[in-house]
Amino acid sequence: MKKILVVGGAGYIGSHMVLALQDAGHEVVVFDNLSQGHADAVRGAELVVGDLRAPREIDLCLASRSFDLVMHFAAFAYVGESVAKPEIYYENNVLGSLNLLAAMRRSGVDKFVFSSTCATYGEPGQLPIAESHPQNPINPYGRSKLMVEQVLLDYGRAYGVSSISLRYFNAAGCDVQGRAGERHDPETHLIPLVLAEAMRVRNGGDPAGTKLEVFGGDFATPDGSCARDYIHVSDLVRAHLLAAERLLNGEVGQDRPAEFYNLANGNGFSVLDVIRACEAVTGIPIRYRMAPRRAGDPAVLVGDARLAEEVLGWRPQFTDLPSIVRTAWNWMSRGPVGQANEWNAHEVEP
Ligand code: UDP
Repeated sequence: MKKILVVGGAGYIGSHMVLALQDAGHEVVVFDNLSQGHADAVRGAELVVGDLRAPREIDLCLASRSFDLVMHFAAFAYVGESVAKPEIYYENNVLGSLNLLAAMRRSGVDKFVFSSTCATYGEPGQLPIAESHPQNPINPYGRSKLMVEQVLLDYGRAYGVSSISLRYFNAAGCDVQGRAGERHDPETHLIPLVLAEAMRVRNGGDPAGTKLEVFGGDFATPDGSCARDYIHVSDLVRAHLLAAERLLNGEVGQDRPAEFYNLANGNGFSVLDVIRACEAVTGIPIRYRMAPRRAGDPAVLVGDARLAEEVLGWRPQFTDLPSIVRTAWNWMSRGPVGQANEWNAHEVEP
């Protein structure tokens, strides 16, 4: 059993991570400012409410406990917002990470797992995108994540911090046992928005009153809508467990102290594929309107995760859309978010 700090453990991916670590027998402490996360998402772990932008708060958290490893999920992640308000992205995502790394150094913790993103690649030159693809992010969000990746290379060489950064494609789905789910405010992600529309109709809403929009129907894809690589959150967190094991076993060393892996399915599913999968899973016809393209959306983003398979031994288990969507619908069907309880959830098999 190891003692692990999960920064951002009250958020969507972080709360799934906490469950996976607990399931694997580790002791977990969560540090979260609850700006995006929810206190009730943290169960069976100590929750320290604090902000990475306040160095004292994260210093205190680390200094008073001896952690074996830190995982960092606390970031702002809305691309559009990052363009309008870059300052908060650089402060929270970059400065916050620097404060965290400084606190780790002061308390002698030298193993770090970092949530990175395929947004560090920018416009794809070749598909699927491998780790060797040039990194030219096209928005402040992607740049803020790339900056931290670069910091990790330098800190690894100079200070002996060993780290693994995991570049996610489109995180989706919810815990198979319905213990945790996706709760963003505002929600901008496709699968929860499509399922919210299904829920509205199930609750008696007029199907013609749909607010669901498909951003762009004229992309160079078979059906004209954007294709993305959806990767189940439980697959994502399993990769973090494997990354943590690699770090704790001392397999990330002096010669190459910072490693970077894509976490992707390798399959592209279009927006219309997602809507059809949600209809099939829910049994509810879902209407939508075609809308203009969203700024900065490439036609296709698909990742190559062979390196994670070779080195970490990681392979996604949820490879088709319905299996991902079923877990999200299971979570959403549990009732009003925040009032969910253990008893009306059931397990969904991959
Ligand atoms: N999308 C859409 N309508 C929406 C939300 C998203 O058509 O209301 C599209 C979006 O343009 C992208 C895909 O769905 O092609 C996935 O978007 P999401 O915001 O879920 O993830 P992102 O790819 O931005 O990380």
